[in-house]
Amino acid sequence: QGGERQIGYCVIGLGRIANHFIGGVQGSSASKITGLVSGHRDKAEKFAARLGVPKSSIYSYEDMDRMRDNKSIDAVYVALPNSMHAEYTIRSAKAGKHVLCEKPMCTSVSDARDMIAACKAANVKLMIAYRLHYEPTNLRAIDLIRQGALGKVQVIESANGFYETLGEWRLNKALSGGGPLMDVGIYSLNATRYLTGEEPESFTASVSTIDHDGRFDTVEENTTWTTKFPSGILASCCTTYGAGMRSYYRVYGSKGWLEVGSFGYEGLRLQANYHDGVKGSPATVLDEPNTEPDPKQFTRESDHFTECILQNKTPKTPGEEGLRDMECMQRIYKAAGVVAL
Ligand code: NDP
Repeated sequence: QGGERQIGYCVIGLGRIANHFIGGVQGSSASKITGLVSGHRDKAEKFAARLGVPKSSIYSYEDMDRMRDNKSIDAVYVALPNSMHAEYTIRSAKAGKHVLCEKPMCTSVSDARDMIAACKAANVKLMIAYRLHYEPTNLRAIDLIRQGALGKVQVIESANGFYETLGEWRLNKALSGGGPLMDVGIYSLNATRYLTGEEPESFTASVSTIDHDGRFDTVEENTTWTTKFPSGILASCCTTYGAGMRSYYRVYGSKGWLEVGSFGYEGLRLQANYHDGVKGSPATVLDEPNTEPDPKQFTRESDHFTECILQNKTPKTPGEEGLRDMECMQRIYKAAGVVAL
């Protein structure tokens, strides 16, 4: 990007993921942090001092629409609880800013459609922050499958979950929109879609809550689902807020399997074992750890959006990609007999 204009990002919501994103942007020459939106002015001023953001580029949730007049802000990064994504995406679009919005895109299919429409109307770009679409280990897995290394893919299994504690907004449906499916199960859902390159034909699903200790008064604790893809590939996935889980996916094909351990920010590892089908020839065994440290994934993600803005290209994970997951999650809840989204 030598000599090219840097893209300025305003971070909306200074929580955990925002810290990773800010680190990722600091690791890039293409982008910089030029604005902050927060409900906590003291915290925002500390971030601003550290990042060299002028105090005049710090906003509250109430007055952030004023960023329309701030030329140093090209784009926003929406890092708020899920149910706030739609409002802040739409307000940012109306202020003329491109929007990089965290996953899940929002908490309803209709909000997702409204977000896409608002960004179109304002002629700004919308990207959903699916960081693994830009991550080398996942790209390698997709490549191996597309090359036919595994033969015909038959089934996929995947899990992602953790033990959630009382008081977190993730357990408050008004802010999260739903349980672990919306937060971490979405990684398995999205992976089964990018690994197969297909859109789900049908779902079966179940939800349950085992712990009645106040944590699961508004959202479910566990969700499992199966997906049938048009080719016949079946995926079996589970997610929980009730137990620590080893997150991974494993893809089984007629010639062998591959596994990516972890959907995390670092420490991903691809393992595979497949054969070329010729009798007597040895199997190919892969064990490829990704040694890139956090927050490199966020540098890759922001670099992509910055490139799309500078070169007027559509992001690889546009609003429509987020909408597809919202539709799938609605169908999963429906298959489980839960009225949601
Ligand atoms: P945090 O709770 O750590 O941060 C959310 C921030 O939003 C808060 O710090 C606060 O910022 C602001 N906020 C505004 N209103 C509220 C409210 N009512 N309750 C709580 N926070 C509020 O959340 P995360 O950073 O973990 O998650 C934020 C988003 O990022 C979610 O949509 C989540 O799904 C997504 N995420 C994505 C990940 C990924 O790998 N792509 C990983 C983790 C999360 P302030 O004090 O500045 O106002």
